[in-house]
Amino acid sequence: MKLQKPKGTQDILPGESRKWQFVEARAREIFGRYRFEEIRTPHFEHYEVISRSVGDTTDIVSKEMYDFYDKGDRHITLRPEGTAPVVRSYVENKLFAPEVQKPVKLFYMGSMFRYERPQAGRLREFHQIGVEAFGSSNPATDIEVIAMAADFFRELGLTGIRLHLNSLGTPQVRATYRQALIDYLLPHKESLSADSQRRLEENPLRVLDSKEKADQALVEGAPSILDYLDEESQAHLDQVRGLLDALGIDYVMDPRMVRGLDYYNHTIFEFITEVKGADLTVCAGGRYDGLVTYFGGPETAAFGFGLGVERLLLLLEAQGVELPGLPALDVYVATLGAEVNQAATLLVQSLRRQGLTVEREYLNRKLKAQFKAADQFAAKALITLGESELASGQVVVKNNQTREQLEVSLAELEADAVSLLASILES
Ligand code: ATP
Ligand code: MG
Repeated sequence: MKLQKPKGTQDILPGESRKWQFVEARAREIFGRYRFEEIRTPHFEHYEVISRSVGDTTDIVSKEMYDFYDKGDRHITLRPEGTAPVVRSYVENKLFAPEVQKPVKLFYMGSMFRYERPQAGRLREFHQIGVEAFGSSNPATDIEVIAMAADFFRELGLTGIRLHLNSLGTPQVRATYRQALIDYLLPHKESLSADSQRRLEENPLRVLDSKEKADQALVEGAPSILDYLDEESQAHLDQVRGLLDALGIDYVMDPRMVRGLDYYNHTIFEFITEVKGADLTVCAGGRYDGLVTYFGGPETAAFGFGLGVERLLLLLEAQGVELPGLPALDVYVATLGAEVNQAATLLVQSLRRQGLTVEREYLNRKLKAQFKAADQFAAKALITLGESELASGQVVVKNNQTREQLEVSLAELEADAVSLLASILES
């Protein structure tokens, strides 16, 4: 057996993890402006938490779950998405209590697991940044969440991400439309793909989502759910569209768009973009007013989205967005001789305690190699420590750019390295 990572997983190495941290930090900052707070739920849940809430007939539950029986014979699954676990937690921790301000605005970031066929932007362990807002049926909440995602994309410097909007209406609207769709598709059943024939039985709305050419041609002529909206559903959609227009957020109505999860009603949306000629959904979400009662909580309106971090990073890469590089190194301590090892350790620890970013030589290499390392780290200042420096207690601090030098005592560095460095680095 080769000791390699499991198929569909990724090691996020240092150069790459910096990009992740940047993206996550921007999300925290922007979501904070909207008063969303972080929630962290377990990476695994009881199978039932996911299965019926996401939908037994969805691809996620029927094909993609990483489930197993633990040593106590509990049916467990790694979480495939974030919403069901957050709703479970919302109810279990009684965040619906009147003393908790509504809407309760939550966000999460972390791994999700789906047994899928890996390809670009599709992994078995992937990461989502998601948000959920509980307790507001106001269309302003729909728009606030959508606008927050749009802010995030814009402030990351991304362009050309299209907002697709649809409504699934009330559960009754959805049921009526479901029947209309079956009536339309049934006579053409034979020309549907095998997958869609199965979906037609189990979950006909999912046929609309098929990526098969043959299915797509049929879907073109399918009835539109927008023609089936009742008064309440139409009013909600009209307000959502009105608010989007008022904010100047561009969107397209996409009546063929359904979501891969069963719990949505009214507004659903996706942010879609093109990478290398193919459409890629980066962020998807909508309203799910029935899910809290499903978990045994009081009737509670809810709205959220999930955003694929791997796909976001693909997009940043494809659009050539510059992300911050390595943080600057304030000081590099070069060493001359094994005898100064302890003194070097004391020096770097003192500098680090003063808040400076510091690296040193550990391998006792020739000075030339050490200076090269300092350049590679883009060190601002250089201190060389040898036996003579140790004996005199005096060292030279060199500006690694201008080569300007300053002779100081180790005691002075210990007392206030920040000011000493500032004096040589500014000029
Ligand atoms: P798709 O139709 O692409 O399979 P989905 O409907 O299954 O997407 P959601 O469950 O809505 O996706 O998840 C929200 C977002 O999470 C997606 O828009 C995507 O950016 C990301 N995502 C979903 N599955 C994966 C995966 N296997 N690998 C990487 N990112 C994913
Ligand atoms: Mg999927």
